[in-house]
Amino acid sequence: MQRSSARHATDSVLATLAGDDCDWCSSGTLVRGRFKGDDAVVCEDCETPAVRVW
Ligand SMILES: [Zn+2]
Repeated sequence: MQRSSARHATDSVLATLAGDDCDWCSSGTLVRGRFKGDDAVVCEDCETPAVRVW
């Protein structure tokens, strides 16, 4: 297992999702943030998490 590589891949996923339009509302944009203490991408408008990393 290469944990550093997996971590980098996760970070890439978050970076890719950030800036996309929200799937759950019409006007929100996804931004990097935290959801329940974990790295995530959340909508800045409705605060729905698009990705949560466990
Ligand atoms: Zn939204």
